[in-house]
Amino acid sequence: MTLVGKTIGILGGGQLGRMIILEGRKMGLRFITLDPAKDCPAAQVADEHIVAGFDDLEAATILGEKTDIILYEFENIDINLVRELEKSYRIPQSSRLLEITGNRLLEKQALTDAGVRVAPYQAIETHADMRSAWHSFSAPAILKTVRGGYDGKGQWRIHTSEEMSRLPHSLFGEDHTYIMEQYIPFRSEISVIVSRGLSGEMKVFPPALNVHRNHILHLSIAPAPLKDHVIEQAEQMARQIASYLNLVGILAIEMFVLEDDTILVNELAPRPHNSGHYTYDACQTSQFEQVIRAVTGMVLGQVMMHESALMVNVLGEHTDQLKEKMNTLPTTAKLHWYGKSEAKKGRKMGHLTFVGDSIDGLISQMEQIAIWPQ
Ligand code: ADP
Ligand code: MG
Repeated sequence: MTLVGKTIGILGGGQLGRMIILEGRKMGLRFITLDPAKDCPAAQVADEHIVAGFDDLEAATILGEKTDIILYEFENIDINLVRELEKSYRIPQSSRLLEITGNRLLEKQALTDAGVRVAPYQAIETHADMRSAWHSFSAPAILKTVRGGYDGKGQWRIHTSEEMSRLPHSLFGEDHTYIMEQYIPFRSEISVIVSRGLSGEMKVFPPALNVHRNHILHLSIAPAPLKDHVIEQAEQMARQIASYLNLVGILAIEMFVLEDDTILVNELAPRPHNSGHYTYDACQTSQFEQVIRAVTGMVLGQVMMHESALMVNVLGEHTDQLKEKMNTLPTTAKLHWYGKSEAKKGRKMGHLTFVGDSIDGLISQMEQIAIWPQ
């Protein structure tokens, strides 16, 4: 399809949708969002917004009727709704990809089938399953919900069998399935964002090095300061996974780099990713523009970086201090603000990207703002 004059529907109204829209409007696209919150970040910049839950087929059908293609911008959407919509409307990312990436067991299986390594894991349905699985791991292990986790929510790190036994039996029950994973003492965490178009063409953004605090992404540095052969290995794995999944759109792949420079894949996200926000200011094409290009059949944009970048998240607890310093931010800092009404602790309210030629210089500029405790 040609892009001009088309309307894209987006399931989900968060900051990822917002940034897709900000990029797409440049190219003349129109957008309609669907999200339960009336004044969500994406709705503020969309042409039209439908207030509805992610299981409301009637509302989603209206979205389908009014738009040329539908995207999803997060994983926790009722898979049956997307399957149903797919019968009548174009959803280039596909319900299948949503199903796989929304379920840690399907995701690990798909990664293994694609030929990449993941941490040893076992499916857990009951407290007894967990107790018997424990013996096949060397402590510590991590228990994760199979569905719905993000920013470390729905995760328990378990160091001893006593700690495990104390986990409440009430965690388990109908529809609560878990996965137990070997804790991996990685040297660093990186992510690679790969895009694949309708023609099968692929482009891989420079891998970013990620630092988490309290299980929430704190900052990303790109390109990741790693040896060339590690970067090449990460990019090659990303291509392999995208081809195996027949990706159309964009896929973020979180990886662990081990002491011996080998890589395990942690998890996938079938959409733009927080660790790719740096692309907005530092690459020829942003991850948000790229997803639009991929799903509409355009050629993919160049992913080259002009300079190095550091992206740092601004959470609810940083918001007041940032507002005070807003007018004196360094000239290289680019502000992105998501328009969320309430600044809750741990909530991603916006981010800053610093672009320049030395990563050390960018880190010291960030530190001078002094709103993130050391
Ligand atoms: P989500 O991002 O959906 O909350 P992740 O699986 O990415 O869930 O886990 C969040 C963070 O927890 C990871 O970025 C990593 O720092 C840590 N983590 C997750 N799994 C492991 C593991 N098997 N070994 C070591 N650390 C892990
Ligand atoms: Mg993660």
